[in-house]
Amino acid sequence: MNTNKEIRSAGLKVTHARKSILNLLEKSNNSHLSADDINKILFKKNDEVGIATIYRVLNQFVDAGICIKHHFDSGQAVFELTPEGHHDHMVCVKTGKVIEFEDDLIEARQHSLAKKSGYKIVDHSLVLYVEPID
Ligand SMILES: [Zn+2]
Repeated sequence: MNTNKEIRSAGLKVTHARKSILNLLEKSNNSHLSADDINKILFKKNDEVGIATIYRVLNQFVDAGICIKHHFDSGQAVFELTPEGHHDHMVCVKTGKVIEFEDDLIEARQHSLAKKSGYKIVDHSLVLYVEPID
């Protein structure tokens, strides 16, 4: 889907700021970006949207289901496009880098742990805080 369609189908009007931010989230090789990251990247591209607008647009994207927001302990909230499948995250405590991972064994263990307590999982997020091995 192109960005214009994607914005419209989320019930939002197409604006320059929304297009720029959505493009960035789609094309950036770091798929987890903070509002500051986005501000820096747009600034470098001479596409100054302004930090207040960036925050507003990101929150609109979250409300519209385009994005999800993570509050990792290591810093600012980061945003990623709503993923199709499930994944968990590792966050580097030195650099803030976010690494995605999926592990069937961990998923299965979580389900059996919940079941043992008489529950089924409706949602979960698992975050590993890591640092580089020297
Ligand atoms: Zn992710």
